[in-house]
Amino acid sequence: MLQFSKILRVWYSNNARILPWRQTNDPYKIWLSEIILQQTRVEQGMPYYNKFIENYKTVADLAEAPLDEVLLLWQGLGYYSRARNLHKAANQIVEVFSGKFPDSHDQIKSLVGIGDYTAAAISSFAYNLPYAVVDGNVYRFLSRYFGITTPIDGSAGKKEFAELAQKLIDPEHPAMHNQAIMEIGAMVCKPSNPNCNECPFQASCFAFNNGVINDLPVKSKKTKVRTRYFNYVIFQENEHTLLTQRREKDIWQGLFEFPLIETESETDLEMINQEIRNRFSISKFEIIHTAKNFKHLLSHQTIYAKFWVVKVNLKKLKVNDSKIVSLDNLNLFAMPQLIAKYLKNQQ
Ligand code: SF4
Repeated sequence: MLQFSKILRVWYSNNARILPWRQTNDPYKIWLSEIILQQTRVEQGMPYYNKFIENYKTVADLAEAPLDEVLLLWQGLGYYSRARNLHKAANQIVEVFSGKFPDSHDQIKSLVGIGDYTAAAISSFAYNLPYAVVDGNVYRFLSRYFGITTPIDGSAGKKEFAELAQKLIDPEHPAMHNQAIMEIGAMVCKPSNPNCNECPFQASCFAFNNGVINDLPVKSKKTKVRTRYFNYVIFQENEHTLLTQRREKDIWQGLFEFPLIETESETDLEMINQEIRNRFSISKFEIIHTAKNFKHLLSHQTIYAKFWVVKVNLKKLKVNDSKIVSLDNLNLFAMPQLIAKYLKNQQ
């Protein structure tokens, strides 16, 4: 097992990408990078990481920031619950750990939004503690190399891979081992067309030698995708509009949006006229524009959205949790990517 780790580390020393969060052992920066990279690829995540570090130099700065501001910085990354948890955990660090990032695995894991993977990543990268990371890249690499067919999304698979990864770690070099195993999964043992000819494990790789690379790793469940129909009503009067804040336990909690009418199926002009009349108890309004249909994909949902621009007397409208804002100031509000896409299309 030590030999396995050594091969990995030698490969890593010669091939690792130079990334800002690898040049530090500051747990705060490592934590930020890990949460951001759960959302996105390195190239897309980098500007977000830089923005967060620039705006919030310490955990205390992040804790003090208003949540709306944090969500605005996060805009475009999706999975906004992670940004909310980041903010909550920063406050937890200030309140429970007097502003000092905890330095034991169990304490790190007690922070909001930190699971096994992130706790192991921070523990090893920041404090060189021997906790093995298992992310999607590690599952793929290990299942192919060892020929493991246990589904990675079931509890048996999770346990089996976690135990194997822990056995493989060299307790003398946990940080580098973990970086290396994730990097080889990301850069060499890629989901499709892995670079087997550049892989230092090729000679003894089960999947390579048995021609089953594309069959591994195995997943048991198919993600159920829910289809939703959103109708955004952009009430307008004198270059002003109405925004509401999403409060319910649903996607995009805490973000701002135009008043939303969700329907069971796609709407047409007549239906939306009726819906607006009923939902907002108004009779005097005029639909002046309809944007083309937008299709927006989330991991578990497909959203079909329409945007209806409606001329109305804004002051007569009664919509909960809403505010009247200038159309020029919409960029000051954290909004779902779907709406950002629509607004960009209108420019
Ligand atoms: Fe992955 Fe190919 Fe290396 Fe096997 S030989 S571990 S399939 S990159």
